[in-house]
Amino acid sequence: MDIADLGKRILAGERRALARAITLVESGRTDHRAQARQLIEDLRGHDRQALRIGLSGTPGVGKSTFIEGFGLMLTEQGLKVAVLAVDPSSARSGGSILGDKTRMERLSRERNAFIRPSPSQSHLGGVARRTREAADLCEAAGFDVILIETVGVGQSETMVADMSDLFLLLLAPAGGDELQGVKRGIMETADLILINKADGDLKTTATRTCADYAGALRLLRKRPQDPEGFPKALTVSAVELTGMGTAWAEMQQLTDWRRETGHFAARRAAQARHWFEAEVREGLLARLRREPVKGAMAALALQVEDGGISAVAAAEELLETYLGETREA
Ligand code: GDP
Repeated sequence: MDIADLGKRILAGERRALARAITLVESGRTDHRAQARQLIEDLRGHDRQALRIGLSGTPGVGKSTFIEGFGLMLTEQGLKVAVLAVDPSSARSGGSILGDKTRMERLSRERNAFIRPSPSQSHLGGVARRTREAADLCEAAGFDVILIETVGVGQSETMVADMSDLFLLLLAPAGGDELQGVKRGIMETADLILINKADGDLKTTATRTCADYAGALRLLRKRPQDPEGFPKALTVSAVELTGMGTAWAEMQQLTDWRRETGHFAARRAAQARHWFEAEVREGLLARLRREPVKGAMAALALQVEDGGISAVAAAEELLETYLGETREA
């Protein structure tokens, strides 16, 4: 594969090149990884910046309906919108809640929209890497907004929040007790809480739920990356398309403020740093599973079992041999 050419075509905004590149970054094959790294490195330094919006919500809350409506609103404004999905269940079940092709049918037909379902990957670390790289590729391809969708399961929310500029939590209208169901940590990472389905019979409940969350948000410690009044809770209806414009206006207001105050760039920088550190950790673990370390480790493990060497001394010997000169800080 001609990586330099692929990179040029991505920068030219060619969708097929983008799709192909995402397939490449999803692959775990060693030669594909090398090509993916080359591609990401080649694409560095362009001056395009998309707004990365993370969106989380339990199944059935209306994520796909919301993304379709919101995405169409943005494409009508002339913006290019990419949708990536992180579905931690797809690895286990083999199928994907977020990935089926019938979702977001209208948006997927839009020329200015690009939708990529969640791949089946073996572990969250792999999904995190793939999604970060896919977002980088979409950014290089000139997308204005990248929506990264996830179901609120396990670590996936935190992971998505850590690769987004803005993080949205989509909730359903519910009785007051339901507030307990949202983990405090997630409320603390949300920039906007959107109470969906604020229409028909559910409208009154949605308004009340929204007020409950607005009250809960006011009790949280003010974050340095927020102007006065954020994070906010709003009602929307993904079906009736109400509240979408307001939600987008709030997102833009928050983003503008963060750009002006340097918080936007600082968050990106911190995320890049986390990513680097995660890659180093992943890389080290991968090397332990490969020769010659794997064999040396097995041999030392036998000696440890026999009592020929202590566990700590064996570990030190292995690390000294393969990591060389390192000193405790
Ligand atoms: P997801 O699992 O979070 O992606 O949820 P879906 O978008 O598939 O929506 C789940 C169900 O909720 C579907 O039957 C939708 O029609 C319905 N739904 C989604 N948004 C709204 C809304 O704004 N109002 C109402 N009344 N129903 C909605």
